[in-house]
Amino acid sequence: MEFQTKQHRFYNLDQYLKTKYKSKVFKVALNGNFNCPNRDGTISHLGCFFCSEKGSGDFAGRKEDALAVQFEKVSTKIHEKWPNAKYIAYFQANTNTYGPIAKLEQLFNEAIALHPDIVCLSIATRPDCINSEVLLLLKKLREKIDIWVELGLQTIHDNTALSFNRGYPTALFQNIVMQLHQIQVDVIVHIINGLPNESKNDMLETVFYLRNLPIQGIKIHSLFVQKNTIFGNQYQKNPFPLLTLQQYVDIVCEQIALLPSHIVIHRLSGDAPQRDLIAPEWTTKKLVVMNEIDKRMRLLQYFQGCKIKNDQI
Ligand code: SF4
Repeated sequence: MEFQTKQHRFYNLDQYLKTKYKSKVFKVALNGNFNCPNRDGTISHLGCFFCSEKGSGDFAGRKEDALAVQFEKVSTKIHEKWPNAKYIAYFQANTNTYGPIAKLEQLFNEAIALHPDIVCLSIATRPDCINSEVLLLLKKLREKIDIWVELGLQTIHDNTALSFNRGYPTALFQNIVMQLHQIQVDVIVHIINGLPNESKNDMLETVFYLRNLPIQGIKIHSLFVQKNTIFGNQYQKNPFPLLTLQQYVDIVCEQIALLPSHIVIHRLSGDAPQRDLIAPEWTTKKLVVMNEIDKRMRLLQYFQGCKIKNDQI
C-alpha cells in the first residue's frame, strides 16, 4: 500500500486529497444557519452531552454572513499562499440536512457554485436527518460534484449513546450508511474515544464494527470537556476520568491496526477552542498527539490494517 512507507503508517487525508485532486485542497467551513433536532426539542433540548451550543461547529463561518462572504474571507488568504489551491465546501455546524428540502437544495447548489475550484461538498449531519428526499437531493448533487456525508456516530454501543443523549440507535446509522453507499456518496464517520464508562475494548469494538461497512473515511478524537456543555457542568461538579495522552495513543494505534487500508483517516485529534476547554489540556497539542501516535506505530511496527485478518479483537 502507498502509505506503508517510512513517512506514513496510515492513510491520511492529505495523501488522499493530493492523489485524487493533484493539488493542495482546503476545507472551508460554512455555516448554513441550521439547527439540530437534538437541541431544538424535536428529540431533546439537551444536545449530545459533549456538544457546545455552537453545535460542533466551533470553527465554522458566521451564520449572519452570506455563504459567499464566509467563503471569501477564508479562501482569499489561502489563495495568496497557494494560488492553485482547491476547496471543499464544508457545512460543519449543527445538523446540515435538518431543514426544508427546498432550503437544502438552494444552499448546497449555492455552495457548489461559489468557486470553480470547489471540488467537493462535505455535509455534517445525523443519520435520523437523512430521509428519502435528502437522499434524492444528494444523488442529484453527486452528478455535479463529489459529496461527503459526515456522520457523528461516536460509539456503536447504544447504552453509551443513551448516556450522552445521542438520540438515535446504531441500527439506524448502519441503515443510512448502506443507503448512502448505494448512491455513491462517501461517508466519513466521527468517533470519540474515552466516553464515560467505555472500556478500551468497547472503543476497539466500534472500529471493529465499522471495518465491515462501506465507509470511506473516519475521524477519531479523544473526549474533551468544554464549557457550556452538559459534560462540562457534570465535570466541574464531579470530575470523571478522561483518557491520558498515553491511554489515547495506545487505543488509537490499536484502532488504526484494525482499520481497512482503504479507509482515509481524516483526523486523529480533537479541536476544542482553547478558551472553551476544561480538560484534558493535552488535547490542544495536536502535533504532540500526532508525534506520539507515530512513535508508537513505529515501536509496535504497526500500519493501518495490520490486524485486519483477526476475526476478533
Ligand atoms: S447531533 Fe451534532 S450538533 Fe446536535 S447535539 Fe449532537 S453533536 Fe451537537
